Amino acid sequence: MSRKILIIEDNEQNLYLATFLLEQGGYEVITARSGPEGIDLATREHPVLILLDIQLPGMDGFQVLEQLRRNRALDQVPITAVTSHAMVGDRERCLTAGCDGYIEKPIDPDTFLYEVEQQLPAPNHSADGPS
Ligand code: MN
Repeated sequence: MSRKILIIEDNEQNLYLATFLLEQGGYEVITARSGPEGIDLATREHPVLILLDIQLPGMDGFQVLEQLRRNRALDQVPITAVTSHAMVGDRERCLTAGCDGYIEKPIDPDTFLYEVEQQLPAPNHSADGPS
């Protein structure tokens, strides 16, 4: 099963920290610094989860979310918004717009991996044989 996570984030420090923490956790990380780049990567790479920054230059996270949700091939891929603690209104808006969950910024190195893993789909045990 793929352990590939896509991070769409324009802030280099956040991107670096999130990538570092996820790689420590054994995940393969692919990164995009803009909405269009993220949509392109999501379509080609089929990650197991997409972490989406909402405050992106140009095409913002809500627009990215809308486009990703319109893509049938990505139906099963959960999208987690990563929003600033201060932007309370964004949270509701993300959920309404079709994201599956959210994680607050600033990223907390002690809890980030756990928070991300809460967003992953439950493991599929059907390949383990008859139950
Ligand atoms: Mn940003």
